[in-house]
Amino acid sequence: THFGFENIPEAEKEQRVGAVFSSVASSYDTMNDLMSLGIHRLWKDHFVRSLNPGSPSMLSRSADDKEKGWNILDVAGGSGDIAFRMLDHATNINNDRDTRVTVADINADMLAEGRKRSLDTPYYNTKRLSFMVANAEHMPQVPDNSVDLYTVSFGIRNFTDKQAALNEAYRVLKPGGVFACMEFSKVQNFDLFNEVYKRWSFSAIPLIGHLVAGDRASYQYLVESIERFPSQEEFRAMIAKAGFVIPGRGYENLSFGIAAIHRGVKP
Ligand code: SAM
Repeated sequence: THFGFENIPEAEKEQRVGAVFSSVASSYDTMNDLMSLGIHRLWKDHFVRSLNPGSPSMLSRSADDKEKGWNILDVAGGSGDIAFRMLDHATNINNDRDTRVTVADINADMLAEGRKRSLDTPYYNTKRLSFMVANAEHMPQVPDNSVDLYTVSFGIRNFTDKQAALNEAYRVLKPGGVFACMEFSKVQNFDLFNEVYKRWSFSAIPLIGHLVAGDRASYQYLVESIERFPSQEEFRAMIAKAGFVIPGRGYENLSFGIAAIHRGVKP
């Protein structure tokens, strides 16, 4: 890229990714809405509904597991978007007030934004919601076999070592626990649509970033990280490599593959 993210040492790359998210933290929602024409909200609603957090039928529930509710780890979840939706779903759909979410993110500014937003939810300062600064590739704070559901939404493409993060997800999940990832992916079978979409993302998104957030470079980086992310099949193979059993086809395309949801189950 013109700012050479590929040719710099890993530690420095991590710092630069950190700077990108510090820079976009406060304008994050507005930008997401503009960039995806509001569709990211529908994807997120669908993602959470399909996981059905707080439902009594959880594979990882063994007979001697007396813990009530689900223990959910939302990684790269800084803004709290997914966490709040999961807690709302557990409460309102499954009548479950025990399910709890730990939001983990490498960036303290993003977590501060999520914490601030949680002030407008019923979960602020309750045991159902906690925040943790952590690198997804190495989370010694989280014990082995302790998590029922691990989610990562629009985060993993920014990780330096994605396989290490998948291995870490496998370690922290209970047997029967579910790994679920929503990420930008590859548009499938629609060459013309793909062409339009690429033009939109490579020219319009950095421009909108410049106009709305005064920050072209960060949004240019975000577009490039989408382009570099593995295809649906390649990413499914990485999940399997971490040890997960892949249910069915392993992924679901959203909006022709602009994004995809991947899943794995720890055997
Ligand atoms: N999950 C939210 C959503 O769906 O809107 C936020 C996604 S935001 C695009 C990506 C997040 O990944 C940022 O908050 C960033 O700080 C975080 N991140 C990047 N690298 C990380 C890493 N190695 N470990 C944990 N979080 C990371």
